[in-house]
Amino acid sequence: MIKIKNYINGKFENPINNEWIDNYNPANGDVYGQIPNSSKVDVENAYQSAKSAFRQWSQTTLEERSRILIKISELLDANLQRFAEAESKDNGKPISLAKVIDIPRAASNFRFFGNAITQFASESHESVGQNAINYTLRQPIGVVGCISPWNLPLYLFTWKIAPAIAAGNCVVAKPSEVTPMTAYLLGEICNEAGLPKGVLNIVHGLGTTTGEAIIEHPDIKAISFTGGTSTGAHIAKVAAPMFKKLSLELGGKNPNIIFADCDYDDMLETTVRSSFANQGQICLCGSRIFIEASIYDKFKVDFVEKVKQLKIGHPSEGSTDIGALVSKPHLEKVLNYIDIAKDVGGKILCGGNRVTVKHFENGYYLEPTIIEIETNDCRVNQEEIFGPVVTIMPFKTEADVLQMANKVKYGLSATLWTNNLKRTMHMSNQLQAGIVWVNTWMLRDLRTPFGGIKASGIGREGGFEALRFFTEAKNVCIKY
Ligand code: NAD
Repeated sequence: MIKIKNYINGKFENPINNEWIDNYNPANGDVYGQIPNSSKVDVENAYQSAKSAFRQWSQTTLEERSRILIKISELLDANLQRFAEAESKDNGKPISLAKVIDIPRAASNFRFFGNAITQFASESHESVGQNAINYTLRQPIGVVGCISPWNLPLYLFTWKIAPAIAAGNCVVAKPSEVTPMTAYLLGEICNEAGLPKGVLNIVHGLGTTTGEAIIEHPDIKAISFTGGTSTGAHIAKVAAPMFKKLSLELGGKNPNIIFADCDYDDMLETTVRSSFANQGQICLCGSRIFIEASIYDKFKVDFVEKVKQLKIGHPSEGSTDIGALVSKPHLEKVLNYIDIAKDVGGKILCGGNRVTVKHFENGYYLEPTIIEIETNDCRVNQEEIFGPVVTIMPFKTEADVLQMANKVKYGLSATLWTNNLKRTMHMSNQLQAGIVWVNTWMLRDLRTPFGGIKASGIGREGGFEALRFFTEAKNVCIKY
């Protein structure tokens, strides 16, 4: 039984209250570890450690910060197998995915921001005719809070931590209580890389206790959060009266719009991935698929055939395409949405059932599920399911599909498949989303702004946007 500990001031500590939460292995339903349910006292200790480290870290040269971040990325690369195994076991995702996406991307996050900080410059503005010069400092905020979800555990955790510390802040971070393992291992790597004590502090526990203590803390001046929309709304309510800086990356219900003039084979292959990668538990998955009526029947047959070929299995097997869902409550939630779809006349074209994997009968496996629906105005098309479930429906005109794509409370990403340039430009302009992919999906360039509109959040991560979030701009105006 693995007992995960908090990482405070460079040391691994038990929670003060000695309260623990069980950690489940989704592939077989067993409890395989425990994590602290940290209290306010642990969060305060983490804060004090971060505060003490801030004076020196904020004055550490950019070259030195950069060197340490890049060292962390190298150590993550060197420990790829160990981290990928841990991520797969904790989350249920296929190890093949953890090895090519989750862990390499976590390493890239540190490498990217280790490099980016050396290029992040103060601006200056000459006030011509007024004999004055302005320069704008970008100063670190102090102690910041980073809170992340379970779907891409280390990937999203480090997407926040790396820019925060690169910019000179010290961090109190909390990974999801559902997938704490790789965050725990990260502490060791940070010590080995020579990250000074207290620059990063990791506290484990429930959102309602540990997370709440972070967002309520009066001196944690910025919160970077990724998770559900209702949690984001709660965080905004708590943090706003304290005037904390907030970055909220929330839920999505992304449209995948397919026109008849697209490159069909590429579209089909990518649509299988954008629907079911990570068991559909990626905030960017295209869960509402709209297909131009002239190719609808063909698409339906081909898509179902391809999806039926996906291999559901134990996450540690190299040939597994679809692993286990992250937890029992989540599996039940997704199954419930499949029932809701049936109730409103949705036709299950494939999947829809829980799967029993031999020797792992208690694991949380679910068939990839395609549901044919008749209207966008139903719960399965309006609410985030966040599992291996997609809907398909035909459309006739560009105007119709645009209206349906935008008629949802979320606005994270949208995918468009077409070779028509005018349509590409028009639709990309009109789609209500923070990210639009045309003829691709999840192609990421870490310099670009990342985030959603409407109920998908506020603020942008990535590139200099993240470094701006984690700094305060101070303008100095000098008259000569
Ligand atoms: P969640 O909101 O339940 O939890 C996210 C994190 O917030 C966890 O660490 C949790 O412990 C913490 N938390 C919960 N209540 C809290 C509180 N009161 N105060 C402080 N922290 C609290 O989300 P989840 O179920 O872990 O993740 C799934 C959700 O995340 C989905 O909605 C998905 O779309 C979203 N997501 C969004 C993005 C994005 O970039 N927009 C990326 C990945 C996931």
